[in-house]
Amino acid sequence: MSTVGVDLGGTKISAAIVDADGKLHAVTTLPTRAAEGPEVVLDQVAEAVRLAAVCGSPVTAVGVGTAGAVDPATGTIVSATDTFPRWVGTNLVTGLRERLGEVEVEVHNDVDAHALGESWRGAGAGKASMLMVAAGTGIGGALILDGVLRTGAHHIGGEIGHIPAPGAEGLTCTCGREGHLEALSAGPAIHRRYLALGGEETLSDTKQVVAAAAGGDELAQRIVVEAATGLGRAIAGILTTVDPDVVVVGGGLASAGMLWWKAMTEALHGELVSGLQSIPVLPAALGQSAAIIGAAAPLIRHAPTLHCAQ
Ligand SMILES: [Zn+2]
Repeated sequence: MSTVGVDLGGTKISAAIVDADGKLHAVTTLPTRAAEGPEVVLDQVAEAVRLAAVCGSPVTAVGVGTAGAVDPATGTIVSATDTFPRWVGTNLVTGLRERLGEVEVEVHNDVDAHALGESWRGAGAGKASMLMVAAGTGIGGALILDGVLRTGAHHIGGEIGHIPAPGAEGLTCTCGREGHLEALSAGPAIHRRYLALGGEETLSDTKQVVAAAAGGDELAQRIVVEAATGLGRAIAGILTTVDPDVVVVGGGLASAGMLWWKAMTEALHGELVSGLQSIPVLPAALGQSAAIIGAAAPLIRHAPTLHCAQ
């Protein structure tokens, strides 16, 4: 019997068997055909699970970390971006059982799955409470309190990208409102602001702006520092509200270099009262495997342990 974890993102679907100790077998990856609608995406997830399976060890459980907000009690998508047309209302539990048979299916938001992975086998292992922040194309977050993922009454809890942020005034967020953290601190916002403020037009993405900052481009440095500072201050606000054991920061920007990391942590510590200064601020440890491991984690950790007779 085996459990497969699936990371269902806007550009790719990755799936792998996850062992009882959190180790991954070979990872299968397919490009996500999100624009073709939910039925095609469900077909793809089922195909990725079949490809990840190994002969002689039937798949009995599938954990999915998906783009969009999820009601984990039913496996239904409750909100999603335009990247996934008609995704809202899709029930992944019934959709995957129709395709795979009577396997156990558990579904979480992808950042929540990241958090479950880091909490089980990554930077937050052994800690009862953790704030996970994923800073990349968007700014996501997740809260684990007393060992339990808490997504709140409307399954949006922890989504710190959409909190009001000083410095983001007048900037339009992906949700359509102005002044949210994501409009200042997400990767695309860094590139967009750099160009808007007269930066070098040949730089075509955030990676190039971050590289220009490391190379001495003063405008790029300013934009990167402002983005990181905004995030650090926002994290400090959440830490002050929740007082977790640890904060784990992942996503593409977390590995973008010391300029970003130093500005983020300095802003964070600059806001925290003295009693909270000792909260560790750690980079995520599992990389892109985190969501696969975390999606499978609840199924593995809650499963009874089987021992041989002798
Ligand atoms: Zn927003």
